[in-house]
Amino acid sequence: MMAVDQMLERAGLKATRQRTVIVRALERSGRPVTAQALHARLGRSGNAPGLATIYRTLQALEQAGYARTFPAGEGELSYKLCNPGHHHHLICERCGLVVEIPSCEVEEWAGEVARRRGFTLSAHQADVFGLCPQCAGGARVRV
Ligand SMILES: [Zn+2]
Ligand SMILES: [Zn+2]
Ligand SMILES: [Zn+2]
Repeated sequence: MMAVDQMLERAGLKATRQRTVIVRALERSGRPVTAQALHARLGRSGNAPGLATIYRTLQALEQAGYARTFPAGEGELSYKLCNPGHHHHLICERCGLVVEIPSCEVEEWAGEVARRRGFTLSAHQADVFGLCPQCAGGARVRV
């Protein structure tokens, strides 16, 4: 992971103390978080960034390819810092854990699907949903 101020500058943002706090909180989280949740979390410390600053920072990071969004229900989006390179995700539907899959095993299939319908492949996206080992294990214990 690159330095926080470098990441912010590449996203077109000045690396202010508040924006650095936002990125550090994202880094610590590991799981995708909504702007609202981040605001609530940071609100407890003094001089915390406002919700508008949090939204703008998250959106700039996403546009620059440093963060990905995940649906968080009711039209909300949650954000997670991500490697800018092409990759996929395994997402736990119960606890929200996101595991990065750095290798791409979809490219060939996506190209074939596109070709068969006369499309030229330019990009694809694929995330895999399910239960993480911990959540699946917990379910088994309860049964
Ligand atoms: Zn990712
Ligand atoms: Zn889980
Ligand atoms: Zn891929």
